[in-house]
This record gives sequence, C-alpha cells and structure tokens, in this order.
Amino acid sequence: MTDASQQAAATPQSEPGDKIAVAIRSRLTFNLDVDVVVVGGGLAGLTVARETARMGATVAVLEARHIGWNASGHHLGGVMPGFGTSITDLIARVGIEDARELWNLSKEGANYVRAASREDLIPGITLREGALEVSNVDSGDQLVGRLQMLNEDFQTEVEGWQADRVREELGTRRYFHGVYYPGAFQIDPRKYARGLADLARREGVRIFEDTPVISIDPSGIRKRVMTPSARLRASHIVLAGNVHLGTPLPRLADTLVPVWRHAAVTEPLGSRLLELMPFRGVVSDTDGIDQFRVFDGDRLMWSSPETAWDLKPARFTAAIQRRIATVLPKLGKVAIADTWSGVFGQTVHGMPQIGQLRPGLWVASGFGRQGLNTTAMGGLVVARGMLWGDDRWKLFSPFELVWAGGSSGRVVTQAILSWSRAMAAGAGALARYREGVRLKERQREIRLANANRQVRARVAQRQNAGPGRNPPPSEPVRSPPPGATDGNAA
Ligand SMILES: Cc1cc2nc3c(=O)[nH]c(=O)nc-3n(C[C@H](O)[C@H](O)[C@H](O)COP(=O)(O)OP(=O)(O)OC[C@H]3O[C@@H](n4cnc5c(N)ncnc54)[C@H](O)[C@@H]3O)c2cc1C
Repeated sequence: MTDASQQAAATPQSEPGDKIAVAIRSRLTFNLDVDVVVVGGGLAGLTVARETARMGATVAVLEARHIGWNASGHHLGGVMPGFGTSITDLIARVGIEDARELWNLSKEGANYVRAASREDLIPGITLREGALEVSNVDSGDQLVGRLQMLNEDFQTEVEGWQADRVREELGTRRYFHGVYYPGAFQIDPRKYARGLADLARREGVRIFEDTPVISIDPSGIRKRVMTPSARLRASHIVLAGNVHLGTPLPRLADTLVPVWRHAAVTEPLGSRLLELMPFRGVVSDTDGIDQFRVFDGDRLMWSSPETAWDLKPARFTAAIQRRIATVLPKLGKVAIADTWSGVFGQTVHGMPQIGQLRPGLWVASGFGRQGLNTTAMGGLVVARGMLWGDDRWKLFSPFELVWAGGSSGRVVTQAILSWSRAMAAGAGALARYREGVRLKERQREIRLANANRQVRARVAQRQNAGPGRNPPPSEPVRSPPPGATDGNAA
C-alpha cells in the first residue's frame, strides 16, 4: 500500500479526557511481511520495536487503540532502579548473584530512559534529578542495612535521610526516614510514550494504531498475525499487550491481575507549595501507597488509590484531595485540575513477564507500578534475545507464568489492596503515636533531670553556707513548660 492509501486509513485521534492525543493515526488495512511484529504500542512494545529496528530488522507495531492511551501515557514519570518486588524477596527467590544481575538490568532500563529523554530527542521531556523513597514507620535500624546492601552489594548510589531531613524537605511529619536516589529522575509523563514512538519511527518502525490483533498462529518459521482488515507474516512476534492482550492468547492475559491506579494534578498552588515542600524529585512511600511530585512549576501531581475494577477517574477526585490533605496537612484542601487512571498488569510474584514462550514467540508484559525502567529493560532484553541470541532473558525464567485467579483473583486483589492500605495507614498511625509517646517521655526525663539539678544545687549551696550560717533564699524548683526540649528529642 502506498503512503496515500495509508493516509486514507488515517483517523483523527481524540478520546474524551485524553489530553495527550495527537492529530492523526494510521490503521493497517493491507497485508504485510516483516521480521518482527509487536503486539501493543505501550512503552514495552515501543522499546522492543525501536531496538529491533536499530539492529536492522523490519518491524511493525500493532496498537488496538492509540499510543499512550493507557498506563504508558498516564504514569507519574518517576524512573528508579529495581522492580515491583523488594530486593530481599528477589534474593530469596533467585539468590544473590542472579538478584544482582537482575538489578543491574533494571538499572540499564533506567539508563535507557535517561538516554532517550534528551530535549533534542523528545522536546519538552523536562528531565529532573532525584527520587526519595520514604518510610511510613520508624524502622531506622533497617535503614543502615538497606543502604549498605544497595551501595555495596548492588552498586547503587543512595543516601540515607533521617526523619528530620525528610520532614523538612517534604513539609510533613507523616514520614520517618528516607532513601534518596540521586541517580533516579523524573520526566514529563505526557511526552515519553509519543516521543518514544517518534524515535522508533525514525529507526524505520511502522506503527499502526486502531489495529487490534485478534489472533496469532505462532507455528512454523513464518508466523501469522490477524487483524480485522489485514494479515501479517513475521519471523518473531512480541506480545506486549499488558492486560488488554485478550483473544490472541487469553491464557497469557489470565496470568495478570489488572490494577487501576488513579492520579490527579492540582491547579497551580503558587509559592505556598514551594515554601512548604522544597524537595523537587519524585516521592514514593515504601508501601507503594502514595507517589507525588511537584509538576509544571507549582502544581502537585499525585497518584494514590488503586482498585481491581475500572471506575471513572472523576470518582477519585475527592479521595485524592483527602489524601493530599492527610499527607500534607499544611497545604489543606487543594483544587484538582484533572484526574485520570491507567491499568497495569500485576503478576503474582511481582516480577515482569519477559522471555520466549516458544521459538519466535516472545512476551514483554506485567510491569506493574514500576514500569518505566522495567519496560525499557524488557524491551532491550527481548530485542537482544531475539536478534543477537543474548540469553539474559532466562534470568526471568524462575518467575513463571502463574494463573492470577481470574475474576475471583480480582476480588482477592481488591481485598488485598484495601487491606494493605489499611495496614500501612494503621502501621503509620501507630509509629507516629509511638513517636509522640517517646517525645513526651523524653520531655518528662528532661524536666526530672532539671529538677534534680536544682535540688543538688540547693543542697550544695546549703553545705557551702556551713552550720549556723543562713543560706541566701534559693529559687523554687521549676519544670520547663510542656513541649520544651533540650533540642535532642526526635
Ligand atoms: C497512575 C499511574 C502512575 C504510574 N507511575 C509510574 C511511575 O511514576 N514510574 C513507573 O516506573 N511506572 C509507573 N506506572 C506504571 C507504568 O506506567 C506501566 O507499568 C507501564 O506503562 C506499562 O507499559 P506497557 O507497555 O506494558 O502497557 P500499556 O501501557 O498498557 O500498553 C500496552 C498496549 O498494548 C495494546 N494492546 C493490548 N492488546 C492488544 C491487541 N490484542 N492488539 C493490539 N494492541 C493491543 C493496548 O491497547 C496498550 O496500548 C504508573 C502507572 C499508572 C497507571
């Protein structure tokens, strides 16, 4: 088909509430033979496509709707090393050596996003440095071990921040200590997916939107892919459809639990936001409940509630407002400019699905709520595995495709989401209560120590005055007013 006929298949792109839509998208209406077909034009699919094209393959991306309509265009733009599961769980599962290799791959993914996020490559991407992971509870003892592990065993530059510093930088007493990642960064979430698609096109990738894949036949050397109005043949198929994959391989889609995460951006808050919260990086808590950052100068971008069901984003406006007021009480109730949602696929073990299902049939999916570095890494690993025979994708083999429980799994997930939020809120409240009790005890100790000092001073005065001499009238014993400290109380 010619460019002219491709233009004829182009449709204007607009979706209600979608602020990142672009003007034109082209649908596939003709049969095509390529080396690689990528199913899904999210960050995972676009990275595989861009990388395989750079290695010299002919590549087509088939996207059911349009680039970035889901999670890939509606995230918060925070890019960190690691996965959606903790390092300790990773070590327990695969041992320290493989955990280290996996972690290095996750760093490579973050580096990939950084390299692509240059203003000359993606104008307006606005890369800002730094990310802070804060703790809801006071587990400062574990902090030292975690810093050592990240710095020494996993060669990741991190700084431990005491509670006082975290609270000063964020303008809230909500959190305790934090781990600061100077090498982490944030990008404009509205720009990355479209920018990556443009970079892939520059390498020769052909991207077709409004083109759902309805079935695949992965047998034989040349595999077949069916869309409503065209048939493709390719040597490799990459399934990068996240939770929407559907009919081409329903059993694969069943290994993911869909989790909708809801987010909002406030109206401009002016200087009060910047005075309250000097920190400019992205902030997330260790329980994965809240994630936020200053955006567009003086707005706050916030993602928090999660549900196992697709509900209208507007329903979460009030919930996010309440969440902001709870975490940043000095800010009070803020006006919300926009609310949105995206769904990501959560695996049972928390690790992405990366690898070869059968010769020539690859998967890059299940990236969870930490998908920016991991989709990039997944794209690189699959592209290299496919065309260079690099077998590092096998590092993901211990994380099998486990059935996620279908609709009953979603009920359980909703219960777990509600339960884990309640547990985290309860643990946070208890930690802050304990901190309050410790502070009061410390104040009591200070008052007692002062009283004892004064008593000892009076006794000494009396002794110095000697027998028969009248001591000068002494000061009455006074306690410091409640709330006063010696400056050392935590
Ligand atoms: C509110 C929110 C905030 C987030 N914040 C962050 C963050 O700050 N940092 C971070 O690292 N991660 C974050 N994430 C997670 C991250 O956005 C996702 O993990 C990542 O975008 C997933 O990318 P993907 O390509 O796997 O999936 P998707 O974006 O869902 O893309 C998959 C695409 O495949 C297409 N598709 C599916 N089936 C077919 C088919 N049969 N035929 C054709 N096309 C098909 C779909 O239409 C879709 O466009 C956030 C997520 C949300 C929702």
